[in-house]
Formats: sequence, structure tokens, C-alpha cells
Amino acid sequence: MNAEIIAVGSELLLGQITNTNARFLSGHLAELGINVYYHTVVGDNPQRLEHALTIAEERADLIILTGGLGPTKDDLTKETIVRHIGSELVMDEEALASIEAFFARYGRPMTENNKKQALVVKDSTVLPNHHGMAPGMLFEKDRHVYMLLPGPPKEIEPMFQFEGKPKLARMLHKEQVIVSHVLRFYGIGEAELEDRIQDILETQSNPTIAPLASDGEVTLRISAKTDAEHEAWELIGLAKKQLLERAGNYLYGYDDDSLASKVVELLTAQSKTIAAAESLTAGLFMSEIAAIPGASAVLAGGAVTYTEQAKIQQLGVSAELLAQYGPASPECAEAMASNVRDRMGTDVGVSLTGAAGPEAHGGQPAGTVWIGFATEEGTETHELHLLGMRNTNRLRAVKLALHHTIR
Ligand code: ATP
Ligand code: MG
Repeated sequence: MNAEIIAVGSELLLGQITNTNARFLSGHLAELGINVYYHTVVGDNPQRLEHALTIAEERADLIILTGGLGPTKDDLTKETIVRHIGSELVMDEEALASIEAFFARYGRPMTENNKKQALVVKDSTVLPNHHGMAPGMLFEKDRHVYMLLPGPPKEIEPMFQFEGKPKLARMLHKEQVIVSHVLRFYGIGEAELEDRIQDILETQSNPTIAPLASDGEVTLRISAKTDAEHEAWELIGLAKKQLLERAGNYLYGYDDDSLASKVVELLTAQSKTIAAAESLTAGLFMSEIAAIPGASAVLAGGAVTYTEQAKIQQLGVSAELLAQYGPASPECAEAMASNVRDRMGTDVGVSLTGAAGPEAHGGQPAGTVWIGFATEEGTETHELHLLGMRNTNRLRAVKLALHHTIR
């Protein structure tokens, strides 16, 4: 089963909004084991939308459209598709009642336009909209499955996740279940990881194994399709064992884990606290940790010391040290880490200092970053040479520091 996602909306083509709906849908379709082969974007124009539908029907089994279900003149998705497939729109009484209730609740008069939103493709399964007015639709026609979804992310996301996706899963796989499990790696490049598991990737069909690299991490999603859930987990377990034999020392977590969540988990388990002194990252390291529920048990706080003056005043880094070695140096990273640990009274002190880029800084080329770790055993530093743009370097430095914290 393969799919095409057609996002409808001139604002997408004008660069006013990003097609986040396609990204969202693709992620969920991958979980269902459906291959998305094409993303199409088309403006609010019925001829071009029909053309896009014609092309999609040649190359996809499942066609998902988002946008253009609203009440305004430019919302033409339903009208166009019924003309295209030779069907018609009918009033859905439930959707109409829910739109009427919506207006009654806000005490606003309802216009004829709004009634239009309760029109649905004849013989379709209606997907109720609990976060807006226009309902979604799912129907089959001439060996194709069509799903129509609204444009606003806050409407489409719950609608697809709770209404569309389960129905699609049942429709496509009948009684089969799909289970997936994600392995998260850090410190190994995508190419090297794939190289190590190439033969497994090539021979594996159930479960399937899908590698993905993003933000310096690599994940392997293992998805199994079987009649019963426990069988799927057995298949996943076997594949997982094989994969970890090849690259297990780079594994840091599973599923929804992140480097930051592992830091919180590990420090909590050890009853340890952490403080950070951040220069080039200006609080990003602490912010990543603070985003994890339960962070308050481990994160004491720290200092954003961007200038040399701030490093001297807030952390007590010596002016002589800075004059001699500069801020992008192991000496400075060491002083920042151990001083923040002392001042905050924590078990661990972390520091990040260096040249984010694009310019050199403190006598060091762009991308030179030093990370310091102070614990009761002493202080160590790690040098990084990052090649990205300024903000990528800042994020990479944070990830490396998080990873060092859990090692
Ligand atoms: P409405 O009832 O709000 O008019 P609609 O189903 O007609 O909804 P559109 O008019 O196409 O949808 O889009 C409404 C808004 O939803 C857009 O202005 C945009 O903010 C958002 N949106 C639409 N399509 C996408 C998309 N593909 N990705 C992200 N956001 C989108
Ligand atoms: Mg609209």
C-alpha cells in the first residue's frame, strides 16, 4: 500500500506557511506501514487540484488531501473531488448539529456558508471534528482510498490520530496489528550504522527496519505486522537483538526517550544534581533538561555567562586565565564547570564554551567548542570541532554535553 499526500492551499505555495501537515501525516503513515511516495502541494484552484488528483490516482493507492474544507470561497476541495470522481455532496445531519451547537455556544449567528461545512461526500465515513467545524471524510472509489482532512494543524492532528488512523488501519490491514519500536543511537553516523547492519536491512521484510538521522542522532524504527500483538513483539525482539549486537554500544534509549530525558532519568536514579555554566549555548543545555518532567529533582540551575566579564563576575573565572588562554579553551571550560559546581553545590557541573560561528572567537576557528565536566572525581574537558551553521553548532554542543552526562 502506498500513499500520496496532497496539501491544498495557495498560502503554502506563497511561502506563508510550512506544510507541517504532510510531515505529521507521513510520520503516522510510516507507523501503519504505509509507504508515502509523494507529497504534492497545490493552490486553491479547482483545475490544478483536479490535475493533481489525476496524477495521484496513477501512482498511489491511498490519497490524503488536507485543507480547503472550510466555509470560504477558496475552500474547494470537496466540490472538486466529487466532480472528479463523479459523486455528490450530501448534508451530514450530525456534522450540521455539531456546527449549530458550536455557534449556539458562542452566541454567534450562523450563516449559510457555515452550513456548507456539513456537506460530505456521499457514502463516505465521516470523521468528526472535535476541534473545529469541518468534518473529515474517508471513502473508497475505483480501487483508491481517499481521505479528506481539514487544514488547521490543531484540527487535523487529533482528527487523524484518533479518528482517521484507526479506521485506516482497520480498512487496510483488516485484523492485522502493527507494532513499532524505536532504537536511539548517538555518537555514530547514519552511514556507519547502516554499513554495520546492511545485510540485516537488505534481508529483513517483517519486521521492517527504517533508519533515520536527525540532529546528530540516528534512530532505527523496527515495525512488525502480524495477527497478534505478542507475535509482533517477538519478531521485534529478534531483530532488536541482532541490531544491538552490531551497534549496541551507541544505543542510548528507546521510543520517546531523548538525551535530556536520559540525563534526568540517570541523575534521578543516582540522586545526583547538576548545574551548568553556558557561554555559546546561553541556556540551551539547561532548557533541554528543564523540558523534561521531573527535571526539578536534578537541575539546580546555573549561569549564562556570555561575555568574559560575565565569566569573571558570575563564575569567578580568573581574569588572568582568560587573558592567557581565552574563553574558547579547555582551561576556561574547566574553570567554568568546577566553579559552577562549587557555587551551586551540585554533584555535577557542566560547562559549554567556544566559537559558535560564523566568525572565529577568542582566537579559535568557528565550531571549536569545549565542554567541561566537574564531579567529585575531578574535572575533564572535551574538545569538539563542529562544521555546521551557528545554531546547528549550538544544538550539537548541547547534545554532546547531554550525551557525556549520561556516559
Ligand atoms: P478553515 O475551516 O480554517 O478554513 P480549511 O480546512 O479550509 O480550514 P485551509 O483554509 O486550507 O483549511 O487552511 C486553514 C489554515 O490551516 C491555514 O491558513 C494554515 O494556517 C493551516 N494549514 C492549512 N494547510 C496546512 C498544511 N498543509 N500544513 C500546515 N498548516 C496548514
Ligand atoms: Mg479554509
